[in-house]
Amino acid sequence: MNYHINTKCLYGNHDKSPVDNTGAISFPIYQTATFAHPDVGSSTGYDYSRLQNPTREQLEKVVASLENGIDAVAFSSGMAAMNALMELFQPGDHILASNDLYGGTIRIFNQINKKNGIEVTYLDTSDADLVENSIKNNTKAIFVETPTNPMMNITDLGAIARIAKSHQLLFLVDNTFLSPYFQNPIDFGADVVLHSGTKFLGGHNDTLAGFLVLASTSLSEQIRFILKTTGSGLAPFDSWLLLRGIKTLAIRMEAQQKNAIAIAEWLKNQDKIRSIYYVGLPSHPGYEVNLRQSRGFGSMISFHVDTPATAFRILRKVNLIQYAESLGGVESLITYPMLQTHADVPVEEREAKGINDTLLRFSVGIEKVEDLIADLAQALEEK
Ligand SMILES: *Cc1c(COP(=O)(O)O)cnc(C)c1O
Repeated sequence: MNYHINTKCLYGNHDKSPVDNTGAISFPIYQTATFAHPDVGSSTGYDYSRLQNPTREQLEKVVASLENGIDAVAFSSGMAAMNALMELFQPGDHILASNDLYGGTIRIFNQINKKNGIEVTYLDTSDADLVENSIKNNTKAIFVETPTNPMMNITDLGAIARIAKSHQLLFLVDNTFLSPYFQNPIDFGADVVLHSGTKFLGGHNDTLAGFLVLASTSLSEQIRFILKTTGSGLAPFDSWLLLRGIKTLAIRMEAQQKNAIAIAEWLKNQDKIRSIYYVGLPSHPGYEVNLRQSRGFGSMISFHVDTPATAFRILRKVNLIQYAESLGGVESLITYPMLQTHADVPVEEREAKGINDTLLRFSVGIEKVEDLIADLAQALEEK
C-alpha cells in the first residue's frame, strides 16, 4: 500500500498493527534485552536489542514510510543520530555545511569532527553556485538544514541534490524543522534525512529521539553496522512513545502552523518587533523556494526585538509560553538562542548570522492562539 501521509502516521504503510494475534491496537512494548533462539544456528530475526527490537523496528518502518526512505534507524537522540552519521566519514574527508545550523551540530563539526580529522566548511547553501565552487578534491558530503535553526534560511533541495550527484557527494538533510509531514528531502534527491525525533515527531516535549532515514540499501547497511557497533539505538519504551506521538503528527502540524501564521501576522504590527523570520510570510526571502519543495511552513518563528531589555522582559514575563529550549511540541516554548541553543558557537560567528542579544526563537504549540497572543502582548508591555 501507499497511503496518504495522514494515514501513514498510524501504521506506516501497513494496514494495521502487524505483530501479534491478540488484536492489540497499540503496538506492544518489547521490553527485553535479548531473545531466545529456536534452534542451534537459527534466530527469530531478533537476537539482541542493540541490533533489533520489534518496537523500535515498528517505529523505524513508520518513519521510513513518512520520509519515503528505504529504511530508517532510530537513535537515542538527534545528536546520537548525527554522531552515527559522521561515522560514515574518514580522517581527511571534507564536508560542506549550511552556515546557520542547530548549535549541537556545529559543536559536533567543530569539536568532534575536527579532532577526528574531518574538516567542515560553512557556507550559504542557498547559493548553489557557491556550493559547487567550494567543492574540493576531498569533499564527501553536503549537509543542510532548510529552514535553518534559528534564522530560517531556505536551501533549494533539488539544486543541491543535482550538484551532489554530479560530484558523487552524499547529500545530507536535517529535516527537523518541517518534519516529514511538510517536507520529504529524499523526493528531491537527498541520500540521508536526519531528524531530532525529540521535536515534532515525538511532539510532546517528553522524549529524546533521533532518526536517520536512508535512501539506499548501501547506506542502510552502513548505518545499521554503525548502530550495532556503537549501540545508541532508541530504547523500547521511548520507541513506543514516539509511535504514540507520531499518530497525531498530521493534526498537530496543521494546528501549530495555523497558530504560527496568526502569530507571525500579529508580530508584524508590534512596534517593539524589528524583524520576523518565518517561512510562511511571503516577504521571507526563501518563501518561493520553500513553497516549491514543501507542503507548508511549520511553526518555528524567530524575531529580533528593539533592545536586549525587551528580549529579557519577554522571557521573564511570559506565563503560558514557557521559556525553555527545544521545539516542535504541543506546548509553546520561547528561547534565547544566544544563551541556549547557540551558546557554544563562537561570538563573531554567532553575531554575523544575527544570533545576538535581541533574537528570540518561538516554537508555537497547540494552545488557543488568542491565549498565546494575549500572553505575548502582556510580556511586551513595559510594566
Ligand atoms: C534539537 C535538534 C537537533 C538535536 O536533536 P536532540 O534530539 O536534541 O539530540 C538536531 N537538529 C536540529 C535542527 C534540532 O532542532
